[in-house]
Amino acid sequence: MEHRSITIRGARTNNLAGLDVDVPRNRLVVFVGVSGSGKSSLVFDTIAAEAGHQLNETFPPFARNRLPKWTRPEVEHIGGLSPVIVIDQRRIGGNARSTVGTVTDAWTYLRLLFSRLSTPHVGESNRFSFNDPAGMCPTCSGLGEVVVSAVDRFLDLDRSLEQGAIRLPGFGDGGYWYSQYADIGTFDRDTPLRDWSRQEREALLHGGAAAATLGHKPPKAYEGVVERFERIYLHTSDNLSERKQETIRQFTRSNVCPECHGDRLNEASRSATVRGRTIGEMSRMEVTELADLVDTITAAHVAPVVAALTARLAAMTTIGLGYLALSRATTTLSGGESQRIKMVKHLGSSLIEMTYIVDEPTVGLHPSDVESVTRLLEQLRDRGSSILVVEHDPAVMAHADQIVEVGPGAGADGGRLVFQGTFAELRHADTPTGRALSRYRPVKRDPRRGTGSLTVADATRNNLRHVSVDVPTGVLTVLTGVAGSGKSSLAAELVARHTANVIDQSPVSTNRRSTPITYTGIAPAIRKLFATRHQVPAGLFSANSAGACPDCNGLGVIYTDLAFMDGHEVVCETCQGRRFTPDVLRYTVNGLSIADVDGLTVDQAVDQLPDRQINRAIGHLADVGLGYLRLGQSLSTLSGGECQRVKIAKELRETDRPTTYLLDEPTTGLHLSDVDTLLRVLDNLVDRGHTVVVIEHNLDVVRRADWLIDLGPGPGRHGGTVLYEGHVADYADQATPTCQALVR
Ligand code: ADP
Ligand code: ADP
Ligand code: ZN
Ligand code: ZN
Repeated sequence: MEHRSITIRGARTNNLAGLDVDVPRNRLVVFVGVSGSGKSSLVFDTIAAEAGHQLNETFPPFARNRLPKWTRPEVEHIGGLSPVIVIDQRRIGGNARSTVGTVTDAWTYLRLLFSRLSTPHVGESNRFSFNDPAGMCPTCSGLGEVVVSAVDRFLDLDRSLEQGAIRLPGFGDGGYWYSQYADIGTFDRDTPLRDWSRQEREALLHGGAAAATLGHKPPKAYEGVVERFERIYLHTSDNLSERKQETIRQFTRSNVCPECHGDRLNEASRSATVRGRTIGEMSRMEVTELADLVDTITAAHVAPVVAALTARLAAMTTIGLGYLALSRATTTLSGGESQRIKMVKHLGSSLIEMTYIVDEPTVGLHPSDVESVTRLLEQLRDRGSSILVVEHDPAVMAHADQIVEVGPGAGADGGRLVFQGTFAELRHADTPTGRALSRYRPVKRDPRRGTGSLTVADATRNNLRHVSVDVPTGVLTVLTGVAGSGKSSLAAELVARHTANVIDQSPVSTNRRSTPITYTGIAPAIRKLFATRHQVPAGLFSANSAGACPDCNGLGVIYTDLAFMDGHEVVCETCQGRRFTPDVLRYTVNGLSIADVDGLTVDQAVDQLPDRQINRAIGHLADVGLGYLRLGQSLSTLSGGECQRVKIAKELRETDRPTTYLLDEPTTGLHLSDVDTLLRVLDNLVDRGHTVVVIEHNLDVVRRADWLIDLGPGPGRHGGTVLYEGHVADYADQATPTCQALVR
């Protein structure tokens, strides 16, 4: 019965080698395999892409133009698809009004509650909406913060007016506004501002009363620099140019709104209370506390609203986000937190028969919280949907109805179905995942000794409770603790007090032309290889030259940027993604054209390109487990974990001076068997005299630490204390989540 499963025949997207598989519907299916084996190519680029494409086809053409374009997968047949919802770790929107409360709809129900119950009684629920003129604070338009001039950045006190003391564009000598200040005879043009009187500086900035006290009074129309700046830049309804916006960023800062103090609502709505609390107070409570409070509201006419609100709050707590407040701006959430918020949102939806695709839901989660996340996935399944999860954590695999392993290797060595069955069967399977599952990494018995220490004293950032720790230098330190316990906050303190090099998971480059070739700087060497072999100019092989495909300008793909959705790419039809004109592609080295070189993986290139300089430069990518990356692959397609490893590779290449490195969950996206590679790289950094501090949940990494700092015990205000500092081997017999997970 085809409709009981998603049937795939002959899938060839990216590295998939004509893969056939039947994925059961209405089940929790976990996709495993080494990094680069083809899991994403199957789940995202084949299943999600085909479902997205077919769904788009059902819309009329004018609507279709506004939908994300999907590149159709290379596959002979797919059947049994339903609409796909992808839940990934991409951060939730950059809109300042988006909060945990608004994206989970909890805020909607809280508003309803206030409109029905609050004293004084207010009526309509949009009175409690900060996006609605009826409810928003008039001073900040519902943003909770206001943009104010950063006056301290306006002036360079060591310069005179003549020398350009006013840093704002247009205010220096020769600038449009200059004469308004310099030529009126009120201000001294040649004396550095530091030597002016306080009043004179006040007058320059603000005019008005301060100016009236000066010997040479300015003309009546004189407008202080600050007033003028604010009139031109801030209090204008014009669409501001890119340059003006940059000026605003440079010379302003955001302050909490002086009227609503961040509550975002107008006076009437702000002061109305339920159970003695305002809506602002409730939105700043931790979700768990708020749930307790809402629990005490028993009025019958609001029972459905209370039930809906309670369900959202409970889902957030279950998924390990009970420490957040509804008022928290989504822009400040981590990738893992963003993903879990999206899950809460979908749990509240009443759509059934959907296919949810979830990318590594355990990222950012302590082992003690993984169970609850799997439970949520099971709930989604039990409501009648199909759940496809890409995951490396055995604790999630253990809950799968079925496991699909793609492999056996990465890139060209992968792309095949190597296992399909239950977790129990996988444990005995002779596949990379099966073998890795039966391997056990013991606790480090011979930890390195620190060469010194980096002290953090009395840290109180976010939830930290006067934390003082000594982080040893010259060793591998792991920071552990449940999500929200304060690991990132402590790491931020470490960075603020000592210079540390933060190797994070943010994009390596947003430039689509950035590839392993450009990033490692081997492009000139490759061009030279072709040029010398054929006695032609090296420039011919550059993507910015006449040799490049004229239609895609040497990109190989055409991008559509959509104002309100993610941009999408399709392969260039002219060059079929080969980026160069046929004339250029005629030239070969070792049988490879310049386009073929793009198609080589790092590992293949090391074998096939006869150039020591190239091999040395890209060898570090292989060292960090990225040997499967294709040389021409746009770095903007990399996952967060891959970006982080690319950056580690760069450090391996560059650094000799002892440096402190801070990494947040470097195992993200790594197969169990790749964790060993990562540990070797971290050990390599330490052995060269560097200090490495990692925030990590992966127990294999925790066991290999020289030094452990465990924070907790709980999230938010239930955490923020140091539970343990010392060797991992000595951490035993304690009831803390990390200690329990280590002995399990
Ligand atoms: P996994 O999800 O198992 O880590 P992927 O499906 O991302 O593996 O990658 C499988 C192979 O396909 C890798 O060799 C990778 O470099 C390649 N690949 C991934 N995305 C693209 C892409 N957009 N274009 C070309 N090759 C890709
Ligand atoms: P961890 O890294 O252990 O997950 P964090 O250090 O990120 O924990 O968070 C500790 C506490 O501080 C949590 O209660 C979190 O909600 C809060 N917090 C973290 N970042 C911010 C922020 N930018 N604004 C407000 N609260 C924050
Ligand atoms: Zn306000
Ligand atoms: Zn082209």
